[in-house]
Amino acid sequence: MKLLVVEDEVQLADALSEILKRNMYSVDTVYDGIDGLDNALTGVYDGIILDIMLPGMSGIEILKNMRAEKINTPVLLLTARSEVEDKINGLDCGADDYLTKPFVTGELLARVRALTRRKGEIIDENRVEFNGLELHKNTCSISYGGNDVKLSLKEFQIMELLIANPKQILPKERIIEKIWGYESDVEYNNIEVYISFLRKKIKVIKSPAQIKTARGIGYSLE
Ligand code: CA
Repeated sequence: MKLLVVEDEVQLADALSEILKRNMYSVDTVYDGIDGLDNALTGVYDGIILDIMLPGMSGIEILKNMRAEKINTPVLLLTARSEVEDKINGLDCGADDYLTKPFVTGELLARVRALTRRKGEIIDENRVEFNGLELHKNTCSISYGGNDVKLSLKEFQIMELLIANPKQILPKERIIEKIWGYESDVEYNNIEVYISFLRKKIKVIKSPAQIKTARGIGYSLE
């Protein structure tokens, strides 16, 4: 796993890099915003640990630029205790998590593990993939091999949720919350109808993926 550390406090940057290397990550370290952006834009990293206050260009600017260039690398922001505004701003700009300085090694490693945990692979802004099954945002469809099939909006939204959390049981309540909202009076059997449509469509494109039922709980994409 390849990480980028962008931090201008050289001692902290080198200590971070040392800790991460000891934990089997391969690490590039840069000490200012301009180099940070150049490296981030390569898109080769599995995660970026990004300080906010940097010479040359702030961490927030780097993040904005990255996301504008469709670089989806997960980002962990390093913030000082006084930078609450920046932290909120950072999360709004597409940071995945933040860590307040000073921090202990254990917490850093836990956050980095969470950050780099593989989800459905994001290929680009419009496509997410799970074992060859691709979900296409721009055409509202799924594909496998050369086959594809259109989805209704609700089918798409449910598939998006499943593919972002593969091999995990998604409780029905959570699917309803996410897609219909808290105030919804959608009956659980409505979801079952959508799931059965999705299963048929997954079969139509000949993908080996399956939506499994966890009886009484919810569904998982396997
Ligand atoms: Ca700094």
